[in-house]
Amino acid sequence: MRNLYNLSKDQLIEMLASWNEPRYRADQLWTWLYEGRATSFDEMTNLSKSLRERLKAETTLGVLTQVAEEISKDGTVKRLYQLSDGQLIEAVLMVYEDGRRTACISTQAGCAMGCVFCATGQMGFARHLSAAEIFEQALLFSGDLERQGDRLSNVVLMGMGEPFHNYDASIQAVHRLSNELGIGARHITISTVGLVPQIRQFADEGMQVKLAISLHAATDAERGALLPINKRWPLEELLDACRYYIDKTGRRITFEWALIEGENDTPEQANALGKLLRGLMCHVNLIPLNPTPGYAGGPTQSEASQQFIDTLAQYGVGATMRVRRGIDINAGCGQLKSKVLKHKRVKE
Ligand code: SAH
Ligand code: SF4
Repeated sequence: MRNLYNLSKDQLIEMLASWNEPRYRADQLWTWLYEGRATSFDEMTNLSKSLRERLKAETTLGVLTQVAEEISKDGTVKRLYQLSDGQLIEAVLMVYEDGRRTACISTQAGCAMGCVFCATGQMGFARHLSAAEIFEQALLFSGDLERQGDRLSNVVLMGMGEPFHNYDASIQAVHRLSNELGIGARHITISTVGLVPQIRQFADEGMQVKLAISLHAATDAERGALLPINKRWPLEELLDACRYYIDKTGRRITFEWALIEGENDTPEQANALGKLLRGLMCHVNLIPLNPTPGYAGGPTQSEASQQFIDTLAQYGVGATMRVRRGIDINAGCGQLKSKVLKHKRVKE
């Protein structure tokens, strides 16, 4: 079975030509896929019955099967999808009052980076996703929103997995988000744990896509304890790559920092971070740690968070506290999958 969402327009034209269909059928089908956002072949009423039957028999509309969905009080939608080989991945839609509709999508089933506080890291790595599997997560939210007269405005590659460990598929998916869903590159963010060669490669792509780097600690000892990748690419090399990116693109970097009580929210870490980032074109996004079963740490309380922000301000480093979305449905990366698997185990 061919996944229609895997085909470029030219490939679609070619396929239908080989079926002896007139050329305009490819345009009609393309419109159903990317404007009509059809969820079944039966909806494609302007195609001949015989073409619809053949499409049903030989192709699929995507490869993701939804196996669970949770909707939070704040409107956050979290979905668990099964892939054709049984792997499970998560995608989240965040709905903001200012009108933004942001999809958070996965790039791998599991993750090889092993960050100790991360539910996905705790699962280990299963496999890379294809560009189509990455793209389709956003496509499905986009279709749902369009049917409600709304529109997907932003995409972040911040779900399960490390996008730069699956570099080519992630970049290809990003191109498709722009070309086929009309999401401008400036409204797309790639988040990386800090793979230095790929940060440099990404700087050379000349894309307008935003870059976020998961920092979480400002000394090698502390960062190495939280993010094992720091042993391969320590802070000095990471910051060199960041400077290269900023020089090359003229774009600022967002640094992600999950505040963990008594761990990386101390005055020492705040001062070390201020020194590290002083003068760099960047912004720090702070988020209280989302507790996970495999890690004992807890979120920083608000007073310490404010102190952290004030300390950074003394170095001229801007930081904001992000609102955590979907907190009542465990919308943190990897958490729905863990929960569903746990229920399954209990049932078995
Ligand atoms: N692998 C990429 C992108 C996916 S993770 C990366 O690490 O950047 C997306 C973000 O969620 C990262 O900043 C990651 O550090 C953060 N994160 C993971 N687990 C978290 C948790 N339990 N609480 C808060 N943030 C978490
Ligand atoms: Fe992987 Fe990112 Fe989780 Fe680290 S934080 S384990 S890189 S998904």
